[in-house]
Amino acid sequence: MSLFRNQWLCHPLTRSLFSKLLPRTYAAVFPSRPCLVWCHSLAHATTAPCSPDGVGQVVDNTFDASKMKVLKQKMELLGISLDNSCVPGQYHNLFCPKCKGGKLEERSLSFHIISDGEFAMWRCFRVDCGWVGQVFADDKELYGEGGANARSYGQIAEESLGLEPVGPKLVSYFKERLISEKTLNRNSVRQLSANKTVIAFTYKQNGLLVGCKFRTIDKRFWQGKGTDKILYGIDDIRNADEIIIVEGEIDKLSLEEAGFQNCVSVPGGAPGKVSLKDLPPIEKDTAFQYLWNCKEYLDKVDRIILATDNDLPGQALAEGLAKRLGRERCRLVHWPKKDEFDSYKDANEVLRYMGADALRRIVENAEPYTNAN
Ligand SMILES: [Zn+2]
Repeated sequence: MSLFRNQWLCHPLTRSLFSKLLPRTYAAVFPSRPCLVWCHSLAHATTAPCSPDGVGQVVDNTFDASKMKVLKQKMELLGISLDNSCVPGQYHNLFCPKCKGGKLEERSLSFHIISDGEFAMWRCFRVDCGWVGQVFADDKELYGEGGANARSYGQIAEESLGLEPVGPKLVSYFKERLISEKTLNRNSVRQLSANKTVIAFTYKQNGLLVGCKFRTIDKRFWQGKGTDKILYGIDDIRNADEIIIVEGEIDKLSLEEAGFQNCVSVPGGAPGKVSLKDLPPIEKDTAFQYLWNCKEYLDKVDRIILATDNDLPGQALAEGLAKRLGRERCRLVHWPKKDEFDSYKDANEVLRYMGADALRRIVENAEPYTNAN
């Protein structure tokens, strides 16, 4: 534990948050077992040489020392210095050259060389840094910063979680909801290989798998640990001036069918009711922690369209978001009437019954949030 002396740990109220976040960090960099709930502990982090790549379960001790030398040289170029304790197959906590471990100078960089010494990968677990990357022990390009080059790693992570591309059953499930295969693929929607009717919404950041939410066709949900801590689709709003926030992954996919990629979904649906209390301090604002974790993305945005569900929890969610994001830059979508009594419930319902063009128009006609209430 001493290696993980972290500013959050000094704050007893945030201890549980930290313990939730940490497995996610490890899962993202080192998914080791084909289990659905990521199961790393701190003890594993420093002592257990478990297979990180889902390929070889057997630790290969015959790795080439020359590979190690190449890795070392490449790492040094990036400012990561490896001492002799850094051996393949184990996890190490090093100083991050990007953020220097923040004020507390913590060893925030989770670093791992896979057991055959082929490549090394890392992630800084400080929220405001999050540096990720990998280097290979051959003459391939130096890989850093996540991005396209991290994708090969992402595939390995998906396999080790038991995910595979969606098959005919789920493709037709989504087709009924007017969501195309193209949209499923672009958003890396997967299925469980063990049960081909379970949808896996992959949560990615910088192209790396950082969480996963599962949903059965009959609408049961569960998720990998830590998944509820970032917005779904966060990479899609990296450079956006205007973004849309919806209440579920399928609504995000629906908006993509209407031509909007600059959309994210909250990870956990809506809270039950509007809280009339003042905002809690950030570290106690657990219900909206995902928002704070994505703050650097959201701060840059000029206009935010809230397209939550047309029911009380949906309104409560919109209110909770507007309060935190600033009402003045928020707009609210009004879902149209279905008949004399009811209105459409959400983006996917509008897509199915009114079509993509109508959905697009409705979102474009969102009204300033302050006037909406
Ligand atoms: Zn860092």
